[in-house]
Amino acid sequence: MADFDNIYAESNPFVRAHFDCLSCGGKLWEYAIQGQMVCEDCRSVFPSGEIFDAQV
Ligand SMILES: [Zn+2]
Repeated sequence: MADFDNIYAESNPFVRAHFDCLSCGGKLWEYAIQGQMVCEDCRSVFPSGEIFDAQV
């Protein structure tokens, strides 16, 4: 599993997303590996597709 570990060691899996939390309006961070976004304030987790649909 060395290659798996290296993914986390060499790159930050979180990417700042240009979307606001649907619950509290806080800043969302995209968790690219999971295709999810997490709020830095309330820590709610949303599927990325749900965020795109809500804010387009
Ligand atoms: Zn939130």
